[in-house]
Amino acid sequence: MIAILKHGTTPEQMQHLVDWLKHMNLDVHISEGAEVTVLGLIGDTSRVDMELLKSLEMVETVKRVSEPFKQANRKFHPKDTIVEAGGVRIGGGYFAMIAGPCSVESEEQIIEVAQAVKASGANILRGGAFKPRTSPYAFQGMKGEGIKLLLKAKEATGLPIVTEIMNISTLDLFADVDIIQVGARNMQNFDLLKELGKTKKPILLKRGLANTLQELLMSAEYIMSEGNEQIILCERGIRTFETATRNTLDLSAVSVLHNLTHLPVVVDPSHATGKANLVAPMAYAAAACGADAIMVEVHNNPSCALCDGAQSLTPPQFDELSRKVRRIREAIV
Ligand code: PEP
Ligand code: MN
Repeated sequence: MIAILKHGTTPEQMQHLVDWLKHMNLDVHISEGAEVTVLGLIGDTSRVDMELLKSLEMVETVKRVSEPFKQANRKFHPKDTIVEAGGVRIGGGYFAMIAGPCSVESEEQIIEVAQAVKASGANILRGGAFKPRTSPYAFQGMKGEGIKLLLKAKEATGLPIVTEIMNISTLDLFADVDIIQVGARNMQNFDLLKELGKTKKPILLKRGLANTLQELLMSAEYIMSEGNEQIILCERGIRTFETATRNTLDLSAVSVLHNLTHLPVVVDPSHATGKANLVAPMAYAAAACGADAIMVEVHNNPSCALCDGAQSLTPPQFDELSRKVRRIREAIV
């Protein structure tokens, strides 16, 4: 349930109302905007007398929120959330370009790629250290050592870093990581989400291979329900009957999510298509439909990459993509 307060309500009046609502065992989330203040009520709202609440002098309207996601809901929080990570902002008009290899493979590789993508305009470095691979015999990532190398690349370039967590037992290793990624395969690992909700770290939450947008938002809600509101949602392609691409990029997800939620949305055209020659066109489409960030895999030698070489761009290819994405952004905003 939400209660929209009238313009001109004093802080004292609002506090009085909030105390009364809390007294009914409700959690109250306050979202103050320039135009309106919204009180989002979470808990058993069936006992709230809507007519009584509506009749209060300071209350403009009261509405039930039918969607199961509450804190992630734009009705609860009309203003766009701006996520801040290592000095970079994402959402609410701030656009981020995230680039880097699928996996960290060596110090030379990650530093070379980090310097190249930075020179081409990327403002966040990606790189997997813990890799969720379909085969247990495939390269599983450099793990803790990989995170150390990412931190070296961060020191060398000043770029904030994003890398994936697979198990909460490794959380200590992420102390200096700027954004923690939850991969598609862990989108509904609810225990992991709840633990990440207790941290203050920005979380990049990828959509599961076969999950609906409502399920993605419910996963965000798990993180938010523990107190962490710094979440970036990621569309990375979903499973369909189509086999021409690795996954099917659901670009309409960007607009659907922007309507439903205040959280920023990043598009990953690399995992969505699985093919390097399709990454740039889908990145342009993502920028054109208003994505708040684009995340692209870049490798200094894709044919020798230990993971996802077929979808990785070379630094010159990324340079062209980055230039064109910037031009598209200028055209649409
Ligand atoms: C990744 O970004 O490295 C990754 C494994 O992606 P996804 O979880 O979307 O498959
Ligand atoms: Mn990858």
